[in-house]
Amino acid sequence: MERAPDRRSDGYSVALFGAGQAAARRLGFDHAIPDRAVRDGSTHIVTRDGGRRPGLGFADLPGEQRMMLRGDVERAAFGALPGDVEIRYATRPTGIEQDESGVDVTLDHDGTERNPGG
Ligand SMILES: Cc1cc2nc3c(=O)[nH]c(=O)nc-3n(C[C@H](O)[C@H](O)[C@H](O)COP(=O)(O)OP(=O)(O)OC[C@H]3O[C@@H](n4cnc5c(N)ncnc54)[C@H](O)[C@@H]3O)c2cc1C
Repeated sequence: MERAPDRRSDGYSVALFGAGQAAARRLGFDHAIPDRAVRDGSTHIVTRDGGRRPGLGFADLPGEQRMMLRGDVERAAFGALPGDVEIRYATRPTGIEQDESGVDVTLDHDGTERNPGG
């Protein structure tokens, strides 16, 4: 369920640390996410006077983190979805009711409310 009208494939830069890599492995798309890290010492800090001096980026931190864009993760996760998973865009939950027999969720799709289960 996604409230946006379509896939949200853009986004900022993300560092994937150990826990994120383990999650990607469990979800079955670890192999599909790239490492865009540049580890050539080219990261610079811009100083107050507009000068530059060598600095550290995420990729320079100790560890095995991988650098990527949010869209890389979105694409990898989307590609790993089983074919029978239904995706609903422009949809958001407006009500959730639980009793001993289950949970009823009411959805709003583009301003139209409905309860898909009942
Ligand atoms: C600038 C920036 C840099 C970051 N860098 C890092 C990083 O380096 N490493 C790292 O591990 N994390 C980083 N994060 C955090 C990381 O991006 C988030 O923790 C992660 O995206 C959360 O994933 P999510 O799927 O839970 O939520 P989201 O990616 O926010 O996805 C939630 C989705 O649910 C949809 N939605 C929201 N409300 C509703 C609703 N009511 N009904 C239907 N749909 C709804 C939204 O439209 C969205 O598509 C960064 C975050 C930012 C903003």
